[in-house]
Amino acid sequence: MAPHLQAGASDPTLAPVAQTAKKSGWAVLIPTSTRHSRVILICSCYLHACKCGFYGDSTHECRCTPGQIQHYLGKISGPLLDRIDIHVEIPSVPFKELRGNPTTESSAEIRVRVEQARTVQRARGFYNSRMLARDVRKVCALDDAGERTLEMAVRRMGLSARAHDRVLKVARTVADLDQSPTVTAKHLAEAVQYRSLDRNYWT
Ligand SMILES: [Zn+2]
Repeated sequence: MAPHLQAGASDPTLAPVAQTAKKSGWAVLIPTSTRHSRVILICSCYLHACKCGFYGDSTHECRCTPGQIQHYLGKISGPLLDRIDIHVEIPSVPFKELRGNPTTESSAEIRVRVEQARTVQRARGFYNSRMLARDVRKVCALDDAGERTLEMAVRRMGLSARAHDRVLKVARTVADLDQSPTVTAKHLAEAVQYRSLDRNYWT
């Protein structure tokens, strides 16, 4: 399973990404340098989540033991995942759903919401992805229910300080897309969903 590495990885800050991609079989686009650029890193892990290939598949039964799954997923390092804002699993789609008539938001509608959210963030002075650690608590202040949800997530998922901040920033973005001035438990819960590959699961 050859990794798909495109472009070089001469910048030392990118070396861990290149190494993990090589080891795990990720498809990664790596720029030659981060010196004058802001990087959006999108990785597609086409490695199956277990040896038999059916872990998390609702249409087939996985026959691997928890130990085997743990070993298999351990190829991807926690510190690397900590540095990625969002990771989601995409399960296979049953045929019926593929042929169904989805009543979801159109891309044009989503674009309007995204542009509104970006306008809100510009007015705040920075995009959420560029939020400094010292601003996180203030800008991503939670209500009581949100605090409880966050505490539970940190405890159950064993989130690092870095992952904790990323969850809050993503929750702020979810709230911005919802045109909500406050970050509620609902927004936070959605952000937590986007940390599905976190360390207690992968190491
Ligand atoms: Zn399996």
